[in-house]
Formats: sequence, structure tokens, C-alpha cells
Amino acid sequence: MRAETVTDLDMPCAAVLEPGYADYALEQEAIQRFGACVLPVSPEQDAVSALNERNVFAVLVRERPIDSAIYESFPKLKLILRYGVGVDNVDLNRATERGIYIANIPDYGAENEVSDHAVALYLAVSRRIVSRDREVRQGEWGIGQRDPIPGRRNATVGLIGFGRIARSVCQRFRALGYSRVLVSDPYLDEETRTYWDVEACDADTLCRESDVISLHAPLTTDTRNILDARRIGLMKKTAILVNVSRGGLVDEDALAKALHGGRIFGAGIDVFDQEPPATDSPLLKAPNTVLSDHCGWYSEASVNELQRRAGAELARVLEGHPPQNWVNRW
Ligand code: NAD
Repeated sequence: MRAETVTDLDMPCAAVLEPGYADYALEQEAIQRFGACVLPVSPEQDAVSALNERNVFAVLVRERPIDSAIYESFPKLKLILRYGVGVDNVDLNRATERGIYIANIPDYGAENEVSDHAVALYLAVSRRIVSRDREVRQGEWGIGQRDPIPGRRNATVGLIGFGRIARSVCQRFRALGYSRVLVSDPYLDEETRTYWDVEACDADTLCRESDVISLHAPLTTDTRNILDARRIGLMKKTAILVNVSRGGLVDEDALAKALHGGRIFGAGIDVFDQEPPATDSPLLKAPNTVLSDHCGWYSEASVNELQRRAGAELARVLEGHPPQNWVNRW
């Protein structure tokens, strides 16, 4: 074996398991002084074999679920860093058992992007923008009279989860003139509730009384299918569901059934239980439903900030500190 190859193998490396950004210069710059490197692994490769014998100290990932072999295969693995907020693709217990820090980047400023996206989906569905655009291009006119749109003056907004993104969504709906905001969040404290002038309620009441329901809770065992068939059945016939949080919060089959059966008015969906959704997913053909590709977070500014913060976390761990946004604290 050549000497320089041995040096390469010894070099601490941060493996990017789901490369997708234009480059990793910001992360590389942050860890250069430790003699460490960033190593993107193409999604077609088996990560464990591709990184065989490498001195992997960190794994960086976006939405892809972490393969169980990853936790076991790298004795020096110290950090799994999620580019983003939700850590539902990581096995927290397993990482903790192995003494691996799990960190996320909750505050990269994407609440503006995600909340713009939630409201954009809502407005597109509410005003039937996508189907009108399509039909006008096909030479149709006067569609407005044919496809009814309920008036939404003084509409009630229901937010499930009231963290960073939901608060930003709340501001936007208020600017649209929707003054009544219902919140279902078991961790909502009275001070926050009063400050934001929202009404706390349980999820059933929220489903019954809201004209638009927007999901902003993390995906956990408590929140999986929080919008199940029964709760979807409680929604108003004119209601719209927006999901920019996680697909697993909704029973997708029940939602597709409600949309196909005209039980609710429509849905705007950025996230799916399986991403990308299966080609035969009934949501792909659901009427008055606007879909996007888990891009709510995206803007050039948010990518830049994500990568800058990821670099800072890598450097902290190389310096021997726990990450700043350490999720599985022990
Ligand atoms: P956050 O941690 O600030 O807020 C989450 C809120 O959910 C908290 O207020 C918490 O109390 C609440 N919550 C927890 N358990 C709950 C339960 N059982 N029922 C109701 N509420 C509950 O997180 P955030 O930054 O607002 O992000 C929310 C979610 O948005 C993330 O977990 C992630 O899944 C998703 N997200 C999606 C995108 C995208 O591109 N579409 C981007 C960023 C985040």
C-alpha cells in the first residue's frame, strides 16, 4: 500500500451519505485545520463498503433513513448530523448505546421558507391555482363558476404543533386576515399561548372547527398518524389539510380516500411517508391536491446556512466538545 493512501485512510472523515448540495466547501473549510476531510458517498454505493477502513468520525445525512450497519461499522464514529430539523430517520436509542452524538440543525432560519411554502400550498389549493393554470393553457375559460370555491373570510386556522415553523405560519395566516387560530400542542405553555393569542385545544376539536389544518409537529411515536381516518372524518367538508412536516403524521390512505370521495376540499402536501411516493400512491391522483417534493425548507440562503452550521458542529466534535444541537443527550 502506498504511504499517501495510508494517510488518506487515517484522516478523520465526515461522510455525507446523501449528497445533494452543489459542493461541501463550507464543511471542508471548517474542518481543514484538524486535517480532516468531507467525503460524499454516492447514493448508489453501499455506504459501509464505500467507507471501508476509513476513519469516519461523522456521518451527515438529509432525509435518508440511516442504515443499521452504519451504527456498528465505524469504531470512531462520534456524530450523526442531520441537515435539518427532524431526526425521525435516525435510531436515537441505538446511537446512544454506541455513544454516538445525534445532532440536528433546528435553527438554520428555514422557518420563513417552510411557512411560505405551507401558505403557498394552502392558497394554491384554496384558489384552485394549479388546475386553473392547466385548464387555461388547454383553452378552457370560465372555470371559476364550474369549480366552486368556499369563501374563507374569518376562516379558522388549526395548527398541530406550535414551534418555530408553526408560529411563522400563524403570522402569515394572520396577515391574510384569519384571526382565529387553534393550536393543539401538549407542550404549549400559557405564556406562549397568550403572547401569540391562540386558543389551545385537543386535536379532535381542532379537526372539527378548522377551515385549514396545518401540521407542524415532529414525527414521533406519539404523533405518527395523528391525523388518522377518524380525525380526517371529523374535518369540515370545505377544509384543507396542509402537511409540510412529515408524511407519517397522516394516514395517507385515509387522506387519499377523503380527497377522492370529496369528504374534504383539498390538500397541500410537501412530505410523504415514503419519499418519493410510490408511483401508485393514491395521493398522486387525488383531486384538488397540490404536491411538492419535500422542498419546503429550500432556498439558496437556507442551504448556505445549513452547511455553515454543519461545518461548525463538525469542528466542535473534532475539538472534543459535544455538538451544540445535541439531540440524544446523556
Ligand atoms: P419545533 O421543534 O420548533 O416545533 C415542534 C413543535 O411540535 C413543538 O412546539 C412541540 O411542542 C410540538 N409537539 C411535539 N409533540 C407534539 C404532539 N404530540 N402533538 C402536537 N405537537 C407536538 O420544530 P419546527 O422547526 O417548527 O419544525 C417542525 C417540523 O417540521 C420538524 O420536526 C420537521 O419534521 C418539519 N420540517 C419540514 C421541512 C420541510 O422542508 N418540509 C423543513 C423543516 C422542518
